[in-house]
Amino acid sequence: MDPALALAIFAVGLAFGSFLNVCIYRLPRDLSVVLPSSACPACHQPIRFYDNIPVLSWLILGGRCRRCKACITPRYLVVELLTGALFLACYAHFGLTLATLKYCTFGFLLLGLIFTDAETQLLPDKMTLPGLVLGLLFSLVVPVNDLASQLLPGLISLPVSSDVSAHLLSLLDALLGTAAGASFVYGAGAIYLRARGVEGMGFGDVKLMAMIGAFLGFKLTIFTLFAASIAGSIVGLSTVFIIWVKRTRRRVARHHETVREARHRAWGSAAIALRRHQMPFGVFLGSMAMVAFFFGNQFLRWYWGLM
Ligand SMILES: [Zn+2]
Repeated sequence: MDPALALAIFAVGLAFGSFLNVCIYRLPRDLSVVLPSSACPACHQPIRFYDNIPVLSWLILGGRCRRCKACITPRYLVVELLTGALFLACYAHFGLTLATLKYCTFGFLLLGLIFTDAETQLLPDKMTLPGLVLGLLFSLVVPVNDLASQLLPGLISLPVSSDVSAHLLSLLDALLGTAAGASFVYGAGAIYLRARGVEGMGFGDVKLMAMIGAFLGFKLTIFTLFAASIAGSIVGLSTVFIIWVKRTRRRVARHHETVREARHRAWGSAAIALRRHQMPFGVFLGSMAMVAFFFGNQFLRWYWGLM
């Protein structure tokens, strides 16, 4: 790894992160990401170029607008640093290759979608649909190296040279990933709606998973779905547990109930809190897709080793 190049790639990542912050704020509000230039959301004063330097400006201004001193969310800093780290990690992992370009693009979209979903519970089509197309196109130049490319050549013989057929099989694998991801989330959403009477996963999640499937191919899409379900359940259950413990304590202190009584009643209210709480599934799907493209294959190899 060339240190100078690594530093440059990190800096490019920071700049892309800065642009991503604009997307996260504007896309769910249906605003243009190009014009007008950035302004303070509180006082609408345009932000000068010297106050718009990734990371540094936020730190120098202490996370406040220079003019009106309104707080600027640390999300700006976090997204810039994460995008920088992502670009650097892709370079370290895949070298100076087309794969790095593919996974920088994919990770950039995922970070944008994760933070947009966490803040607004929306997954804008303007990110997921171009992402889906890009994922399918990338599969033609960076082979999605798994199921289809390993199994299908024996089953399907295409009337083209083996070079071309490798690219087509990779595209087929990406399409399989898209179909598997989208239909699983659609099915899970329908079951969830039946069981709990509220919409858990919407079409935004379906399109997100279609995009993830296109970038990852079939095998890692399945990995992402499993990992996200497990992560989501762990977070959901621990949230209920924390609410339960807190409310039990409060009941004992305020209402002088016995611990047993308090536990019983607090359990009821924790269950209601969970039902009202909207889980941002996109956050789990997106972050597990990131884990998938860095560590998914390693994990599966380890897992198969155990079997
Ligand atoms: Zn301001």
